[in-house]
Amino acid sequence: MKKAVFPGSFDPITLGHVDIIKRGLPLFDEIVIAIGINAKKNYMFSVEERMKFIGNTFFAEEKISVETYKGLTVNYCKEINANFILRGLRNPADFEFEKSIAQTNRKLSGIETIFLLTSAETSYISSSIVRDVMRNGGNAASLVPNSVASKVDI
Ligand code: ADP
Repeated sequence: MKKAVFPGSFDPITLGHVDIIKRGLPLFDEIVIAIGINAKKNYMFSVEERMKFIGNTFFAEEKISVETYKGLTVNYCKEINANFILRGLRNPADFEFEKSIAQTNRKLSGIETIFLLTSAETSYISSSIVRDVMRNGGNAASLVPNSVASKVDI
C-alpha cells in the first residue's frame, strides 16, 4: 500500500496545494495531509481552522485525511506507516530548500520524497502572499479553495 504524507503549514491551504494533492491522488492509495505544529511559529489561522479548510475542501475524497503532528516529519511518517512524503516544487528556491531536507529525511529514515512540479496556473501562489492579501483587505478568492474564501468573507 502506497501511503504518502503531504506535510505543511497550510496557513491557509491554497489552490497551489490543492493542485499538488489532486495530482498526487492517482499515485498513492492514501494521502495524509499533515499540518505540522510548531510552537514557535505565529500562524494567521488556528490549527482547527486550517484543519476545517482542508477537510471541507476534500470531504468527498475517501483517500484523503487531515491530521496534525509535532516533531520530525519522518518520525510522524513512521508512526502512521507512511512510506512517502509528497511535496510541491514551484521554483529553484523551493528546489534548493527541499533538496537537502529530502536527502536528510532519506538518510534518517529511508523514506522517499516525491516531488510534483507545480501547474503553471498555480505556480505563483503562496500562503504567505495570500495572508498578505487577506490582511490588507484584498480579494484572495481566486487563490484559495472556497472553504477558505467563504470563511474570511471575501
Ligand atoms: P511549509 O511551511 O512546509 O513550506 P506550506 O504549507 O507552505 O508548508 O507548503 C506545503 C507544500 O506545498 C510544500 O511542498 C510547498 O512547496 C508546496 N506548495 C505551496 N504552494 C504551492 C504551489 N503554489 N504550487 C505547488 N506546490 C506548492
